Amino acid sequence: MDPRRAAVVAEQRARLLLLQHAHACAAAPGSCRASPHCGDAKVLWRHVCGCAGCAAPHCASSGVLMAHFCGCEDARCEVCGPVRRWLRRRKIG
Ligand SMILES: [Zn+2]
Ligand SMILES: [Zn+2]
Ligand SMILES: [Zn+2]
Repeated sequence: MDPRRAAVVAEQRARLLLLQHAHACAAAPGSCRASPHCGDAKVLWRHVCGCAGCAAPHCASSGVLMAHFCGCEDARCEVCGPVRRWLRRRKIG
């Protein structure tokens, strides 16, 4: 895989993981020990769920990412595959 593509995939995967974590995480804002970005991701998750895509940071790209994740059935997808394995380990999602 070319390095630029690998970097994009790594970033998308990290964002998906963070969003999935935030969705399942019950920690109060600022008190999550899993990620310092958890609070931001919770806000982003709620925003993306109710938004059809606006100019806010990460809004449109996260919406595309989540729509892909929900519809993706490729077990070997380089973006979703590792995220699904992580979710199975955590028994959430
Ligand atoms: Zn959290
Ligand atoms: Zn938006
Ligand atoms: Zn996928």
